[in-house]
Amino acid sequence: MLNELKIADLQKIDTIVNELMTVLKPGLPTPKIKINNQQGNTLGFCHWQYGLKEGKPFWWGNTEIEIQKRVTTDERTLRRILAHELAHSEDFLVNEVAALEKYGYQTY
Ligand SMILES: [Zn+2]
Repeated sequence: MLNELKIADLQKIDTIVNELMTVLKPGLPTPKIKINNQQGNTLGFCHWQYGLKEGKPFWWGNTEIEIQKRVTTDERTLRRILAHELAHSEDFLVNEVAALEKYGYQTY
């Protein structure tokens, strides 16, 4: 959990995320990063939601990235996982939003 992570680890994550954000499309919001401490094979996940609310399409204006605590101990792995999830974030916020705007929710 979050409180088990050292401040230095959190700062390291922040630094890497801020650095990687500069290679994404300018103007994209920085995703919130959540640290999880679970077993299993998924090291990272990028959350983004869209759907219909009272008949109108909606989608999140930002994503949430979840990473496993165990990847934070190796900087190369951490960087690789964050880069991968940030690519999903950019894809959701750029390409998927464009498709939703173009085709609407029903045909998406
Ligand atoms: Zn992926």
